[in-house]
Amino acid sequence: MRRGRTHRLSPERAARLRRALDRLERASPPRRRVPLDPVSLPHRYRDPRDIEVAALLAASLAYGRADLFLPRVERVLAGMGPSPAGFVRGLDVAGARELLAGFVYRFNVGADVAVLLLGMGRMLERRGSLEAGFVAAHEASGGDLHGALGAFVREIRDVDVRAVERALGRTRGLDHLLPVPLGAGAAKRLHLFLRWMVRGPDGVDLGVWKRVSPGALIVPLDTHVARLAWRLGLVRRRTMGWAAAEDITRNLEVIDPVDPVRFDFVLCHHGMSGACPPRARAELCARCVLRPECSVGRRLAPGPEPSGPPARRGSPASARRAPLG
Ligand code: SF4
Repeated sequence: MRRGRTHRLSPERAARLRRALDRLERASPPRRRVPLDPVSLPHRYRDPRDIEVAALLAASLAYGRADLFLPRVERVLAGMGPSPAGFVRGLDVAGARELLAGFVYRFNVGADVAVLLLGMGRMLERRGSLEAGFVAAHEASGGDLHGALGAFVREIRDVDVRAVERALGRTRGLDHLLPVPLGAGAAKRLHLFLRWMVRGPDGVDLGVWKRVSPGALIVPLDTHVARLAWRLGLVRRRTMGWAAAEDITRNLEVIDPVDPVRFDFVLCHHGMSGACPPRARAELCARCVLRPECSVGRRLAPGPEPSGPPARRGSPASARRAPLG
């Protein structure tokens, strides 16, 4: 996909932002928020193949409120037994019906999820791993991430959908679960899956894919990251699609060229926790460690840099990662 034009951070501003983001990471250690995040689900497994299957399932359904989608994904995983990879490798349409009959989560029904599970099983059989499937798509697209993700999703969807629909009823939100074509949206849930697989292991991301570089990633752009990126001057676009995610990533690259999406989790959870709400509040800005670099915070709460605790902690029920893509 053609990259949009954007401003680039100056090295001086990037250095200041990096110090501010390091402060945020120290003040709000990411590991403490992992239990509230869908990445907690693939953390339950040890085998890389089980991790990638659990991760793609969890990331694909990670839209809306975490307290609503997490239990549904947990129930599906529980029905898959101790090895999600072993389960999908041996899965047929009758098994999918047994697991997913009656499943509903917002736009998606059991038939949609069955296509995803059957498609992962086929990819494991054909290529040995989801990583191998993605790497093949990445190489075929000449390193273009948009093309690679599009081809990866197309291969996952290459199952007998009519047989699935005969067993489980009509698919409903298949294009939302597995978008084909990928289009101009931010594809947040696919980038989230890639971040989990490629970065780390660092207590948050799992780092089980070794053949993709963290430098190839694009930020998983949800409403929280979009809001923070706008306030911190990482993006100037108003439309938060793929092009905006690329803009933000290019600026994060100036901050950390090797690992540009390193601060995605801490930025997202700064918003999710309620510490940086959509309607900014002076009393929260006054104690936010990002304030010196934030256009909104400097306006609402002028004064010396904060030295105390930066963030109000939210309740688990408030934890959500809203989708853009
Ligand atoms: S200073 Fe205020 S608006 Fe800016 S990031 Fe912090 S809490 Fe959000």
